[in-house]
Amino acid sequence: MKLRFRLSRAFHPVTVTVFPSFCRLCGRALDDPDEKIICARCLETVEIHRGPVCPVCGRFYQQAAASGQPCGQCLERAPEFSRHRSLGPYSGRLKEVILLFKYRSYEILSRPLSAMAFRHFAGGDLFEGLDYIVPVPLHRKREKQRGFNQAELLGRGLSDLSGLPLLSGVLVKIRNTPPQVSLEAAERETNLRKAFMVKKAGKIAGRRVLLVDDVFTTGSTLRECAARLRAAGAIEIRALTLARAA
Ligand SMILES: [Zn+2]
Ligand SMILES: [Zn+2]
Repeated sequence: MKLRFRLSRAFHPVTVTVFPSFCRLCGRALDDPDEKIICARCLETVEIHRGPVCPVCGRFYQQAAASGQPCGQCLERAPEFSRHRSLGPYSGRLKEVILLFKYRSYEILSRPLSAMAFRHFAGGDLFEGLDYIVPVPLHRKREKQRGFNQAELLGRGLSDLSGLPLLSGVLVKIRNTPPQVSLEAAERETNLRKAFMVKKAGKIAGRRVLLVDDVFTTGSTLRECAARLRAAGAIEIRALTLARAA
C-alpha cells in the first residue's frame, strides 16, 4: 500500500509519498535505499526465458531442435514487425511484479523492469541500429484513469539506459477499445481496427523503431501498431514486451 500524507505547512500543503518498508511479495524488510516496493531477492527470482524462440514473433520453444525456424503462425502470416521478444512467460513472479506495476500504480517498478529487459536484450540484435523507442499508446481516457501509461514508463526507462530517443505522442490511440483480455481471440483484431494512428508520419518515415509494451497476449496490439508505423514509412519495426501470455 502506498500511503500519502498531507503535511500542513505554514502556507503550502505538501504531499509526501511514503513507500512501504517491506517487500510487497515476500515481506522482507527493504533496507537498501535502492529497493523500492519489491526486494532485490524477489526480483532475482523473476523467470527469464533463455531457451530457443521463434526468430520472428519470439514464441518460446520447448525443444532446441526448433531453434532458428519461424513458428507455424509466422510462416502462415508474417507479422508487420520483424522480430519481437519477451523476457519470459506471463506467470509466476514476473506476472506478480507486472500486476503491482500496472494495477497497483507502483510506477517506480518501471525502473527495475526496464533495467531487467535492457540487461537481457542489450547485447543482442534487438537494439542494434534503432532510431527510436515507441511506446504502445493508451487512449487518453484510459491513461487519465490509470494516471500513467505503463508502456511509456517502460519505454522511458529503456531510452535512459540505451541512449535511444523515446518518441511519444506520435503513435496515438484514437479509439477507446474494450481491454483485449476481455475478448475472445477472434474479436481482438476487429476490436483494434482503426484504433491507432500516426500523427507525424515525417518522424517515422525511413526509421527503425522498437515498439514497447508490457504484455504480449495474442500480438494483435503490436501487429496493429506495427501496421500503422509501416504505413507511415517505417523501414523496420521491432517489438519488446516484458511478458508473453500465449
Ligand atoms: Zn521480496
Ligand atoms: Zn512466430
